[in-house]
Amino acid sequence: MIILKDYLIRGIDKLGSLRIFVATTTNLVEEARLMHDSSPTATAALGRTLTAAAIMGVMMKNDEDTLTLKINGGGPIGNILVVAKNGGRVKGYVDFPLADVEPKSKGKLDVGALVGNNGTLTTILDLGLKEPYIGQSNLVSGEIAEDLASYYLLSEQQPSAVSLGVLVDRDRSVKAAGGYIIQLLPDIADEDITKIEEALAKVEPVSTLIAKGLSPEEIMNKILFEFDMQVLDKIDLQFKCDCSRDKIEGVIVSLGRKEIEDIIEEDGEAEVVCQYCNKKYGFDKVELSKILIDL
Ligand code: ZN
Repeated sequence: MIILKDYLIRGIDKLGSLRIFVATTTNLVEEARLMHDSSPTATAALGRTLTAAAIMGVMMKNDEDTLTLKINGGGPIGNILVVAKNGGRVKGYVDFPLADVEPKSKGKLDVGALVGNNGTLTTILDLGLKEPYIGQSNLVSGEIAEDLASYYLLSEQQPSAVSLGVLVDRDRSVKAAGGYIIQLLPDIADEDITKIEEALAKVEPVSTLIAKGLSPEEIMNKILFEFDMQVLDKIDLQFKCDCSRDKIEGVIVSLGRKEIEDIIEEDGEAEVVCQYCNKKYGFDKVELSKILIDL
């Protein structure tokens, strides 16, 4: 099987009545699964959120802009936290990657039950200004796509159709992942909204389309065949953690003198694990003592 690169397209119809973002994320979701050793349902929950954040991330303008998407539904998975940077880079984790629930009928993964729907979806948009922009809405189902559509409508007054999907294979690997967001622009005609609704009611789940080998362009044209669409951008997507020894050292520094002295005394060394990628950073007695001297 040929593994196609993950990428995203941004398209607009020639009349300017709608925008669409379509992403394939099979490889980056599989990478996340391997890093976190997640259960099938947790893989689906994290994968849907990574896909959503990847799409939302490309809506930002500047290189250092950061989007954080946090979902806290009170379910067994705990929090889902995903960070997207411009240029198609995402990273993320869930509190309890091994947590799982019984599938629904026909073996469909019950993401809503694992995530829970008693909580909020929060976005934090850091554009390098004094204060980040924070938006929040209550979860609808914990299935994530529905929750994001509700967020866009209530928090940003942006009517949107959101579809996110992850197909997990029998060996727990990711067979297909991706999604799309369609945004209706203010000038859209009522009959065009009806056309979109009818197309969405008929189209197969996005993960099925990706498993069949459809590209983002083909998915866009399949759903919006009645519109004259053009692709504005094509952006490669990847799971990329920006942790480093320097940043992790900063975490140790932030513990303060007393705590670091205690670690040296009691354990003689420290191991810090990056939550996003599970990379381990070890600091021995000499290195810890050096951090103390520099404090
Ligand atoms: Zn990392």
